[in-house]
Amino acid sequence: MSNSTPAFIPFTRPSFNQETIDAVSEVLRSGWVTSGPKLAEFEATLSEYFGGRPVRCFANGTATMKIALQVAGIGEGDEVITTPISWVATSNVILSVGAKPIFVDIDPITRNIDLNKVVAAITPKTRAIMPVYLAGLPVDMDQLYALAKQHNLRVIEDAAQAFGSHWKGQKIGSIGDLVSFSFQANKNLTTIEGGCLVLNNPDEAKLAEKLRLQGLTRQGMDGMDVDVLGGKDNLTDVNAVIGLEQLKQLPAYQTRRTALARQYFDVIRAELNAAGLMDLKLELPVENFTDSNWHMFQVVLPLHQLNCDRATVMTELKDLGIGTGVHYPAITGFTLYKEQGYKTSDTPIAERIGRSILTLPLFPGMADEDIGRIASGFVGILKKHRKN
Ligand SMILES: *Cc1c(COP(=O)(O)O)cnc(C)c1O
Repeated sequence: MSNSTPAFIPFTRPSFNQETIDAVSEVLRSGWVTSGPKLAEFEATLSEYFGGRPVRCFANGTATMKIALQVAGIGEGDEVITTPISWVATSNVILSVGAKPIFVDIDPITRNIDLNKVVAAITPKTRAIMPVYLAGLPVDMDQLYALAKQHNLRVIEDAAQAFGSHWKGQKIGSIGDLVSFSFQANKNLTTIEGGCLVLNNPDEAKLAEKLRLQGLTRQGMDGMDVDVLGGKDNLTDVNAVIGLEQLKQLPAYQTRRTALARQYFDVIRAELNAAGLMDLKLELPVENFTDSNWHMFQVVLPLHQLNCDRATVMTELKDLGIGTGVHYPAITGFTLYKEQGYKTSDTPIAERIGRSILTLPLFPGMADEDIGRIASGFVGILKKHRKN
């Protein structure tokens, strides 16, 4: 019998193979390390992946979304409808272009924006809808685009977590208006930091290119001009080759994520059953193995049936060598947002789920045994804290 403590399982961990390390070394030795031929190749490969739509890359997902809003012409005085359950980048970029985020409550099952509640939030100032595909599960795209069309709104999809997700057999990004992805280290496809935007036409792509480099256009051999205010948001060739290698591995990653998610459903249910906890209102994710890319496996804790809070569950899991995460508390509860008059109580489902959602480990490098260890540890903690 082994007396060593089992290895710590983080909630996520990126996988890099030897080919990726070699490709990075090659760029470093090439003499050209910032945006150049590898970026052009990555963008062309992504464009092919998304069915020929134009794609431009940026330094991170946040810059990608900000530039998407600018490409859509959204700014001062405009309203953008979004969800309170997201990484705060989503609404921060809306504020950063001078527009106002309007938060609509979420659907408790999908944990995404409740599209049935969007119409009531539309005003004459509404210019766009910015849905987020939490954990990689898309919203109903037919309903989303019907709404946008009917009310003449742009759609900026925060698909940061949805690279590899589908809607009715089509890749997220291959359909729709402006679709923004993040390649941050925790995402299903990573360039360490980075992001890409799928656009509608070459004019939008040209504007996005300008905005990511100071608003600059080059003229002839030695001329240049600046006619809009841009930033410094370009992706380097070092990041781009990591993305190219990750793309090759994506199908294998996706197969592994899907298999692990299936195991989670089976093992958690079996453990709850064995522990006599079938009446516990633990909320599992939507069991959809075709649309989601299984970016995360998130449960919602039945805090009303437990004599402890989420932090206690997380601490006790950590003591068992299991990492967890919170994705996310309602954005409207952050000081910056409260100071602008937002209230978590205006979106009560988001408030409840933001308080009780918990991300369990899920990443391609996990072993099958890890799922068993996590599920039994987790259900053991629920049993211990079950109210009377
Ligand atoms: C990761 C993420 C972002 C931001 O991406 P960065 O690359 O970290 O800037 C935005 N929205 C959501 C939902 C994300 O998960």
